[in-house]
This record gives sequence, C-alpha cells and structure tokens, in this order.
Amino acid sequence: MLNATHDPSLISWLTSANNADTDFPIQNLPFGVFTSAQNNQPHVGVAIGSDIVDLYVLAESGLLDIDPSLFDEANINKFMAQGSDMWTRCRQHLSQLLSTQNLVLQQKVSLALVPQNTATLLLPIKVEGYTDFYASKEHATNVGTMFRDPKNALMPNWLHIPIGYNGRASTVVVSGTDVRRPSGQLKPATNNKPHFGPTQKLDIELEMGAIVGAPNEMGTPLTVEQAQANIFGFVLLNDWSARDVQVWEYQPLGPFQAKAFATTISPWVVTQEALQPFCVHGPEQHPKPLAYLAQIQPGNYDVELQVDIQTQVSSLSQTISQTNFRAMYWSSAQQLTHHSSSGCAMQTGDLLGSGTISGSTKDSLGSLLELTWNGQNPLPLANGEERRFVEDGDTLTLQGHCQGQGYRIGFGSAVGKILPAHRL
Ligand code: CA
Repeated sequence: MLNATHDPSLISWLTSANNADTDFPIQNLPFGVFTSAQNNQPHVGVAIGSDIVDLYVLAESGLLDIDPSLFDEANINKFMAQGSDMWTRCRQHLSQLLSTQNLVLQQKVSLALVPQNTATLLLPIKVEGYTDFYASKEHATNVGTMFRDPKNALMPNWLHIPIGYNGRASTVVVSGTDVRRPSGQLKPATNNKPHFGPTQKLDIELEMGAIVGAPNEMGTPLTVEQAQANIFGFVLLNDWSARDVQVWEYQPLGPFQAKAFATTISPWVVTQEALQPFCVHGPEQHPKPLAYLAQIQPGNYDVELQVDIQTQVSSLSQTISQTNFRAMYWSSAQQLTHHSSSGCAMQTGDLLGSGTISGSTKDSLGSLLELTWNGQNPLPLANGEERRFVEDGDTLTLQGHCQGQGYRIGFGSAVGKILPAHRL
C-alpha cells in the first residue's frame, strides 16, 4: 500500500539525497550493516544520499522510538524478525526525521550520519538458508536448448513448478569480496574420463535475491499473499557458476559444486515497501498455475538491471547486458509459496535467488553462457579484448534501480573480482 513515504515530491534536508541520480533518495531507505572509522562495532544503518543513518545512534538518542539493541547487531535479522508492523513504523519515522518537513530536528539527526565513503559495508543478513530458483522463461529456454534439446528446451514441469535447489548459505558474500576461481571435476565431450582442475567456464548469473523477513512455522504452508507479505526486501545477487563443472555434475540432482563456491549480494536491502510504486503484474501464465500458486495481485517489480565488466588490463568498465526484473515468469512470492508448500519452515534471513534474469534480446541476457552461446560467439570488448567466460582479474558489477519521476530507488551494486585458482 502506498503512503506518505512514497510521495515522489518528498525531499530531504540532506541535499545529496535529492540528486536525481542518487540510488538512495528519501523514498528508498534501504537497510544495511556497517562499521566506520569512528566505530568498529557493526551497526544497522539506512542509506540516505551519500550518507548512512546509524540507527543505533539515532535510537539511543531517543529520536527514533525503537529499542536500540535491534541495531547494535552485525546483521538485520533481529530487526526483520520483529515483523512488518515494525518495518513500516521504522520507515515512516525515518522518512519524517529526514524530510524537509522536519527541519527542527535536522541538527540532532545529523549526529547519527556517517558518510558512506568512510564506512565499510558488511553482509547485511545472516543467511539462514539459500535457495536458488530458475524463473526466467527466456533463460531456461536458452539453457535447455544448449544443454539438452532445442525442441524440448523447457522441461515438462517448468511451466507448473517454480524450479529450485538448495544452495549454500555459507558462501554468500557481500559486494567487494574477491572470488577465487574454483576447481572441480571436468569432462570435456572429447574426453572419456573426467579430470580435476580449475574451471574453464567461469560465469555470472544476474539475479535478484528476495530476503525472508517473517518466518512460517514448520508444517504451515503460506498462501501467495502471505508469502508476499513475509518478504522483507531485495538485493542484487550474482550466482557465480562453473559451467563445465555444472554440465558434468548436474544430472540427476541438479547443481552442486558448480554453484557452491560463491554468491555475491549487494550490501543494501531495498525493502519491499520501498518497491511498492514499482510493483507490476508479471507475464500471463499458461497453463494457469495450480490454485495454491495463483498470483492475483501484482508480484513482479520493474527493476532496470545491468552487468558491467572490467578486465585486469582495462581502465574502464563496460556494460555487457541490460535487462529488467519485471518479465520473470514466476514471482518471488510464488517461489516462497512453493518453498513452504510441503510444510518447509522458512526462516528470517532465508535468501531466495530469483534465477538468472534474461530478456528476449541478445543484449539482455543475464549470463555469459547465453551472451556467448556457451563460448561459441566471443563477446568483443571495447579495448580489443574478447570474452567467452570470466577470466582471472576480471571485475563483474551488477547494478539495478527502479526509475521514478525525478528519483530512483537504487540497489547500489554487487561487485566481485576473480582471483586465480589455487594451485593443485
Ligand atoms: Ca542461478
């Protein structure tokens, strides 16, 4: 539901929050965790313009009427576990404190501000579980065409079930964390036997991560409406993948080591509430999903996304893909509903990867696997280099934002640089 915090004309007394191209205007107010030059104890904060509001300091000062201990934490799980009334109350109060309608308290609130360029952003959530889905019809069709059979690219279950697998929570890392090239079992088509070595087909997957804020009890499935309400917010997510490992190991139980080595997320959790003005219907679903999965209300989000690459020798970053989150076939709410449908308990801090987000055009694909068609068509870069897959020293950056009238709700970025494999 829209309220005063979504008003596009709302402006902050903090001028950097009012630039049309800032990711963090007063309408956004995303949550993260940080340390700073002054304070090496992690605190929960909210991004505003080029600053962070230290919510612990603000609550301690009495300006924010919320228990400060919720913010004296190394992650936002304790805050998320309070439930959606608390999420809304905190957002509304912050919006009031930061808006030009409240200049009286400006000086006092300013004492809780920390410039982002002096802060270190940490992994914002304690990731309780990580499940990765496969919800872009375009992506699933492309991968099915390459790995299996162009005539039957989509498996018979794909249009009925949000397909997913349980990934590794332990290797979800915050943006800026270097990623070591993994080694694994490889069996090129030309070899009879597998060998063990560094992946030759290291890839990215452009995804969004939905973060479960409110839990459901074991044995208590969620409706789609309940699932949607339980999602606290979203981050950018790069589901790093080793394609040569994947193609050898994935049958019959799905991905394992090919995706277990690293998953990068952006540091700011953009709340579902902030995204409300950009909530849209997804594509029409044929055949109609079974009743427990039927999504009546809009459940997709109009988020413009892009992937940039910067190689070891180049001084500039270059965009290699641009797409949008809105065309995903299965919504995050449908995925969470399906996840809980067996009675599976979903916990505060569970992370659901959307699946690679690919559009229908050549420049809107969310992985190098698709952009180069499994390495067959190398991607030319502006400095004369080309890429089939990710090479050592490459830095990959995901960015995303919702474009409003005169402002945007940004996600910041999810950045990862590739280090060479360990010597075997
Ligand atoms: Ca994935």
